Amino acid sequence: MTANAAEARRRELAEAVATVRARISAACAAAGRGAREPRLVAVTKFHPVTDMLHLARLGVTDMGENRVQEAQAKAEQWEQWLAAEPTLPQPRLSMIGHIQSKKTGAVARWADEVQSVDSLKVAAGLSRGRLREMEEHGTPPLACMVQLSLDGDPGRGGVVADDVHVLADAVAEADALVLTGVMVVPPRDGDPAAHFAAAAAVAERVRAAHPEATEFSAGMSADFEAAIAAGSTCVRVGTALLGARPIP
Ligand SMILES: *Cc1c(COP(=O)(O)O)cnc(C)c1O
Repeated sequence: MTANAAEARRRELAEAVATVRARISAACAAAGRGAREPRLVAVTKFHPVTDMLHLARLGVTDMGENRVQEAQAKAEQWEQWLAAEPTLPQPRLSMIGHIQSKKTGAVARWADEVQSVDSLKVAAGLSRGRLREMEEHGTPPLACMVQLSLDGDPGRGGVVADDVHVLADAVAEADALVLTGVMVVPPRDGDPAAHFAAAAAVAERVRAAHPEATEFSAGMSADFEAAIAAGSTCVRVGTALLGARPIP
């Protein structure tokens, strides 16, 4: 990329970050939440790792990825950048997509958070992998959310409400995992406000059993205002920050 193209992209991302932050503030004000703003996770999947560098320099250091190999390659690039320039802001990488159980060991190495725990097998694999990292490198335990599915559609992943509690208990009890809350990707059809309210009720029940599980990750580019109104503590925003994904 030429210096001019990089600078143009930096400006484009700076504008998008400002626009999204303004939307988040307006949604919080409208919901009477005042300054209690949700965490902004920039969903960088399919976008080049150089965009992540721009975002980090713009103060957006929480980043979400949904494909294991892509995320791992990006994490390795960051290690090189940080080695060369230790003053760079450090990204916090979240896995937000379905994980095949044989990939859990890899995810446990680079992820700072997994929002998409959707089976006992994945929870067990992440815990095993993370325990190794903790013993070998002093890595902290892995922050995990249980992903809720409101309609049981396997395409979006997640477990149905009836199964959330058993999974949440397992994550909370796992040696190397910390249960932080519930994540949801609502069905495309129907009323987003109703979906988010239903998901918020499930997150509330999980929190009643596990007071430390305070996160409710809900809301993407098109619907995060409705999620914020329902109490989202974490919005995952791709398109509104980075533009359309360059699908290969
Ligand atoms: C891709 C993705 C997002 C971001 O979606 P946008 O509509 O581009 O903001 C959020 N959450 C999950 C789980 C995703 O896979």
